Amino acid sequence: MNRRGFVSAALLGLSSKSGQAARNIAGGFVNDGFPLGHRLRDGKPGFAAPKQTVRIPAVIVGGGCAGLSAAWHLNRKGFRDFVLLEMEQQIGGNARWGQNEVSRYPWAAHYLPVANRESTLVRELCTELGLLKDGVWEERHLCFSPQERLYLHGRWQEAIEPEIGATRKDHDQYKKFDALMREARATGQFTKPLEASGKSPDLSLDRINMREWLRRNGLDSEYLQWYINYSCRDDYGSNLDTTSAWAGIHEFASREPEEKGPLTWPEGNGWIVERLKERVHKYLKASAPVYRIAREGQQWKVFTEQTAYLADTVIWAAPTFLASYIVEAAVSPKCDFVYSPWITANLTLHRMPEQAGDIAWDNVIYDSPSLGYVVATHMSLATVRQQSVWTYYWALVDQSPAAYRKILLEKDWGYWRDLILADLSRAHRDIADCVSRIDIMRLGHAMARPVPGFLGSAQRKQWIEGQPGLYYANSDLSGFSIFEEAQYRGVEAARKALRRLGRS
Ligand SMILES: Cc1cc2nc3c(=O)[nH]c(=O)nc-3n(C[C@H](O)[C@H](O)[C@H](O)COP(=O)(O)OP(=O)(O)OC[C@H]3O[C@@H](n4cnc5c(N)ncnc54)[C@H](O)[C@@H]3O)c2cc1C
Repeated sequence: MNRRGFVSAALLGLSSKSGQAARNIAGGFVNDGFPLGHRLRDGKPGFAAPKQTVRIPAVIVGGGCAGLSAAWHLNRKGFRDFVLLEMEQQIGGNARWGQNEVSRYPWAAHYLPVANRESTLVRELCTELGLLKDGVWEERHLCFSPQERLYLHGRWQEAIEPEIGATRKDHDQYKKFDALMREARATGQFTKPLEASGKSPDLSLDRINMREWLRRNGLDSEYLQWYINYSCRDDYGSNLDTTSAWAGIHEFASREPEEKGPLTWPEGNGWIVERLKERVHKYLKASAPVYRIAREGQQWKVFTEQTAYLADTVIWAAPTFLASYIVEAAVSPKCDFVYSPWITANLTLHRMPEQAGDIAWDNVIYDSPSLGYVVATHMSLATVRQQSVWTYYWALVDQSPAAYRKILLEKDWGYWRDLILADLSRAHRDIADCVSRIDIMRLGHAMARPVPGFLGSAQRKQWIEGQPGLYYANSDLSGFSIFEEAQYRGVEAARKALRRLGRS
């Protein structure tokens, strides 16, 4: 449904009793990052000069999973002379989490697929965290069933690939798509992390979009196209038109055919963040935005308002586009990566909707502009639960990122509350009566989008190469943002830093 249609439906759907119930719901925007982000970009108002300068061999900028993984690697190699600077109060970036009287819940990243053989670093971490023991995944952390369901033609079905009303043609095309993904997997180029394959990617796939690839392969089933489009929106915050065919295929071909899992927790990947924090807490400084990085001889001077750090090496694990505003003479004065805007929301339910059915961990509504909701209490061991927290995801994909960023800044909380309730009320008519609170997070630059050309981009290669003593590590360098890429980029940058310091 287009936006106008969707807003009218929202207003219609919420005009009477539910409208009153909606108005009684508490909540607001949380974790708004853009006032500080815009200040960093524009330098207005300016930042105070640091009161002291500290010499230190290494600085990590950004405490998301990439920065934390860099710190994890340095620490496990016995290297202790570094600091990690995070601009927000809470460490974790897109894997931050929250908690209320009902449950812990994620703000964005909510699962980790069980690692393939080539994901050696993820396997090392999972072994260290007790998730993988003697090659067996710990059941307690694998998503309980039912894992996922889809609301289609007025009822719920298991799994997200549409089945209700699927025709023979749809089934034939599902099979053909699976066979093409098996062939793609066999080429060995679709790995997580991307660089683990050691194979040259087929750049002809990177030059076209996923819609064109489907067309060339005669895959025109509406159900199949919806499913693949959904997967691109879910993992990349892009759609069939704005996803490179290489990335679209990677989404499916990088999975093991009989993949278990995923690993998940009430607080999502916040669980991993907390375990990493336990290991490296000594080096972490939150509420420390880095507003400038400048060359000083062979070293780099990293400015925060409290302290300037004179470092031999810097790992930039914050989003790459910010480096062009903050790092003097960065790789490029303007980063050409495309970032997707998102909305996430945590809804606190004091009771379950009537006829909610067998609620799964991941619940998707066919043809909704959103991605549906993930249930934070799903991994709880309590058998009967009247209360819950649902994390609602919406990648804003149909207009340009710039247009959505404007909407994100303009619209108030009530606007998003009504849209969210209207969307969910397609499957749960009494949802407005069940919810007592909706907290909403607006993300203008949530994740990098693997647009056609991203893989072969010359600028992407330059950022990956970095500068003498300054290494870039954010997951956006991979073109798409997942834990495996954040961890790989963080550890790779830490290795380069150690080599520069003669400590490898
Ligand atoms: C809605 C959503 C859902 C997702 N779901 C999943 C999922 O289920 N599974 C999955 O694997 N991945 C998921 N992801 C992808 C997720 O982004 C990655 O898994 C990973 O967490 C990214 O880590 P990162 O460190 O590369 O980047 P970020 O998490 O963006 O971390 C960058 C950090 O740098 C900090 N920073 C920025 N500027 C400065 C500065 N000037 N000074 C100091 N600090 C600064 C930021 O505050 C932030 O903490 C999701 C992403 C989104 C947006």
